[in-house]
Amino acid sequence: MKLKHYINGKWTDSSATEFYDVINPASEELLARTPLGTKAEVDAAVDAASQAYAHWKKTPVIDRIQPFFRLKSLMEKDFDLLAAEITKEHGKTLLESKGSVRRAIQMVETATSMPSLIMGEFQEDIAQSIDSHSVKQSMGVFAGIAPFNFPAMVPYWFWPFAVAAGNTYVLKPSERVPLTQILLTKLVEKAGFPPGVLNIVHGGKEVVNALCTHPSVKGVSFVGSTEVAKYVYKTSASHYKRVQSLGGAKNFMVILKDAHLEKAVDTALDSIIGCAGERCLAGSVIISIGQDVAQKVAEKMQERVKSIRIGDGMDPTTQMGPLISQAAKERICNMIDNAVKQGAELVIDGRIGVENMRGYFLKPTVLANIHKDQKIAQEEVFGPVICLATANSLDQAIEWINSSRYANTTTLFTTSGAAARKFRYEVHPGMVGINIGVPAPMSFFSFGGAKESFFGDIKVHGKASVDFFTDKKVTIERWSKGSSIW
Ligand code: NAD
Repeated sequence: MKLKHYINGKWTDSSATEFYDVINPASEELLARTPLGTKAEVDAAVDAASQAYAHWKKTPVIDRIQPFFRLKSLMEKDFDLLAAEITKEHGKTLLESKGSVRRAIQMVETATSMPSLIMGEFQEDIAQSIDSHSVKQSMGVFAGIAPFNFPAMVPYWFWPFAVAAGNTYVLKPSERVPLTQILLTKLVEKAGFPPGVLNIVHGGKEVVNALCTHPSVKGVSFVGSTEVAKYVYKTSASHYKRVQSLGGAKNFMVILKDAHLEKAVDTALDSIIGCAGERCLAGSVIISIGQDVAQKVAEKMQERVKSIRIGDGMDPTTQMGPLISQAAKERICNMIDNAVKQGAELVIDGRIGVENMRGYFLKPTVLANIHKDQKIAQEEVFGPVICLATANSLDQAIEWINSSRYANTTTLFTTSGAAARKFRYEVHPGMVGINIGVPAPMSFFSFGGAKESFFGDIKVHGKASVDFFTDKKVTIERWSKGSSIW
């Protein structure tokens, strides 16, 4: 089945000559074919969005949010359907898919606060008989480019806020998982957004380039790997656009001696293997402070890992689904081999026991004796690989974390308030967990890391994102009674 774009309120065929096969990673069944859309199709979508903007920007904010209330109800109604679609095209378990649909709904809910979020400021008498006020005005067409790992949620980090703020939007879903966005966009259509307010163009590099260079696109939001994030940031900025570009991650979790060890190990394991490790907030390296803690963590981790049930995410007993593709599996297996060559100890080999399985399965793998100079300790794995390391002190662990080129998230397990404060105060990552394995900010807070995990300045969703999607205009007025001029 060849997929269609959604441009100006119509489902339209692509003239693409190249397609990306969407495969169910648990069964290897072909689900659909994503057209790798063209520049001309991006032009058509941006034109539609520009035309829709002329009316949408003047629509009062209280009216703009009405279709979002309807969209929320429609998403609640189709909640299970949406979750199943994610599991089918991405592979994560149904429970994980449901969690991500809930997050997408929360974005819509928060966007309905736009009448308050977009309010400006007013100050009387900034000088004698002079008043000043600032308003946040919408800007025009914004674009979003999404990764494969959260088919519903990530695009919803952006477009509901952009559109509720009065802009119009062109979204490019990941070519690997386009089906959930198609279901969602059918709900957008039912919710009654005017044609052209949200447009979907499928594709790969050509579509990305066309969006990042189009003169009518005011800003670009990107989520994906760091190399592409840098490219999108540079290309869009050199075409004078606003950019928020989220990249990859390497997330460290520190366990102190005073932590509740049972809970820490369970939470860290869930962080690392949840969604088969395909989360930008997934833990990767566990740094135990002291040999004593390290030994206990290693023992408990091995015990738990052995009991993890892998399988099709649609099966409610499955605890971990497959990876997205055979290529991803091979890349991770090579990383494991290289880690061993660089001195890591292969404690549990997740490649054993999946050899004859259909689907891109890899069991959780445990590597010990992890050091700062090994590649596996520096690069993003994006798979279920648990790396065990030891440090002598919290200071040494913080130094290690801060030496990483990434800075998305990090976690400390402790019962000490002083240690927790020191940790959150000193670490570089933009999202910090204290006894929380996946510290994903809620829709009403901002989301985003630092260093090579985030390029730009205004982070994603929450109150602050309104600044990304609007321009501040300040007026200064003089209306003085009895003045010779006014
Ligand atoms: P990816 O970089 O391969 O793809 C992301 C998007 O970029 C896709 O829409 C794709 O079509 C496009 N793209 C890919 N290669 C391109 C190129 N050469 N030129 C132009 N466009 C290109 O990322 P992915 O594999 O889909 O997603 C996984 C990555 O996303 C991981 O690194 C993960 O950490 C990251 N991620 C980060 C966050 C965050 O909040 N920082 C959230 C989710 C995912």
